[in-house]
Amino acid sequence: MYTSMSDMLKEAQRERYAVGYFESWNLESTRAVVKAAEEARSPLFVGFNGGFLDEHGYNVEYYASIGKVAVDSASVPAALLLNEVSGFKQVVQAIRLGFNAVMIDLSLLPFEEAVEQAKSIVETSHLANVSVEAQFDSLPAAKKGAMEEVSNIAMTDPRKAAEFVEKTGVDALSVSIGNVHGLYKGWAHIDFQRLQEIKKIIGTPLVLHGATGISDEDVKKAIGLGVCKINVGHALRLAFAEVIRNSLRRKLSPDLESISDSAEKKMKDLIRNKMKMYGCAGHARELTGS
Ligand SMILES: [Zn+2]
Repeated sequence: MYTSMSDMLKEAQRERYAVGYFESWNLESTRAVVKAAEEARSPLFVGFNGGFLDEHGYNVEYYASIGKVAVDSASVPAALLLNEVSGFKQVVQAIRLGFNAVMIDLSLLPFEEAVEQAKSIVETSHLANVSVEAQFDSLPAAKKGAMEEVSNIAMTDPRKAAEFVEKTGVDALSVSIGNVHGLYKGWAHIDFQRLQEIKKIIGTPLVLHGATGISDEDVKKAIGLGVCKINVGHALRLAFAEVIRNSLRRKLSPDLESISDSAEKKMKDLIRNKMKMYGCAGHARELTGS
């Protein structure tokens, strides 16, 4: 059932757990997220990557339709999020198509412009009861198993973060504290000291992207220090690809429905385990009373 992302994050913050955003890219991955959340009785975020959809020339409307059915039919509280939108135009499109949350990465803009842009996105989105997550620092991205040079990537400055959330009124802030987008060798080195400093001065819910590359232990530590939304992308894609690869190797005539079912189950089990780890499992009740 449709629930506000902002309300879900505030509740998670109060109860000290994190809600997972497991990024989908097709029907199977969307169904896997919903089934996992229903089994775990967990609140959830369903969504797609706006930037990727744009890059591939995919019509957002198809994905919005899948997402709407997923959120409407879910027996647990859920928000439909268009992650990493490509710009203001896509925000308006997302609102029109039934997403009730958007995330915008403003790291390519100078700070003042990022503030202005976020402010107007928040104003427009809030008029339509749509929650906004934003990020103003860039995250390093791993390409082909190797991390980009990270030395020139600025991590989130706590004072700037405080200024940003105060001036823009965003509902959630994605932080850069050593986390990396994509897959690379070894685990990310999370700057917990920085996380603590940010947490100390801002009350806005904090989000950690790139969790596939963060060890379970560090993810739990970050949640303990106040992160209340965790973004996972690659882990699902790896699970999906592994099942497809193994199944096709064994069969001459591919029974694609069964292969898809197996891939969905593999993703669902992985997500359910992560929901337990994030502490959101069993928390559907407080938000819905059921
Ligand atoms: Zn991300």
